Amino acid sequence: MKTAFTDLDELLAFLELDKNRLNLPIGNSDPFSLRVPRGFVALMKPGDPNDPLLLQVLPSGREAIAQPGFNNNPVGDLESQSVPGILHKYHGRALILASGACAVHCRYCFRRHYPYHGGTASPRQWQDILGYLKADPSIREVILSGGDPLMLQDERLAEWFANLAGIPHLQRLRLHTRLPVVLPERITPHLIELLSGLALPTVVVLHVNHPNELSPALTSATRKMHRNNITLLNQAVLLKDVNDSRETLTTLSEKLFAAGILPYYLHLLDRVQGSAHFEVPEPEARKLYRALLAKLPGYLVPKLVKEITGQTSKTPLGIS
Ligand code: SF4
Repeated sequence: MKTAFTDLDELLAFLELDKNRLNLPIGNSDPFSLRVPRGFVALMKPGDPNDPLLLQVLPSGREAIAQPGFNNNPVGDLESQSVPGILHKYHGRALILASGACAVHCRYCFRRHYPYHGGTASPRQWQDILGYLKADPSIREVILSGGDPLMLQDERLAEWFANLAGIPHLQRLRLHTRLPVVLPERITPHLIELLSGLALPTVVVLHVNHPNELSPALTSATRKMHRNNITLLNQAVLLKDVNDSRETLTTLSEKLFAAGILPYYLHLLDRVQGSAHFEVPEPEARKLYRALLAKLPGYLVPKLVKEITGQTSKTPLGIS
């Protein structure tokens, strides 16, 4: 984390890119500033301004342009906050914002404007969150998300796990994380031991968008998790010029499976302010989905979904 690139000029020099040929933001006042670990940058092709991994993290001048339909709260997270640090949108599931920080800043992130206020829930908030979960027996599953829950130290994670395991009506635990993709070193033997020994059945949902992100280091880490009976799923976001082709998505699914990960969701972009240049129109997304169905076995085709504020679940997009 300490050696991650946070300075744009440094990143561009490292990748041998000429800043005068790029559409970069004017000034550097954006609080959602550049952040990308060196290991992830090492997967990018030097000299290529269109590298699909670079496009996900490189701030763009286009982010400042307001677009109709794009805003700071695209999926109604603010309205779903039951107590500070917990989002309760869907029946049976509640999501804890376990940390406000991430190892990487993805330019299309739907929570890029979310007011985390310094990030990690305070001990007082923990108590409120646990109190809320205990008081609602309809909640069967808790999702640790953020930000990224793996930004927490193992001891802190272990405390969360122990507290959650003590709630009798909880049946499952889920972790949503992109951190292993950009810092595979985070998957230490200790973390694997911790996750595989949990009292509640646990699913780890990774966020990999492009096959080039599945580095040997990541694949080796996820295979170890898989061998230790940790269920691994993947959710990707459909992003223009990054993964919006049949070939890329097919390869992604195949490489995920080889790494012990099952494709779960392919999300349409959440329309967050600053991300319009990543949007793939819905008809095009459906066409791609049909192409995947024709190419892959069913278990390797992720569900194509979009999130509509106020709906009782993610909305699946059929093939029509
Ligand atoms: S890692 Fe996830 S939460 Fe963090 S910036 Fe990227 S998409 Fe957003």
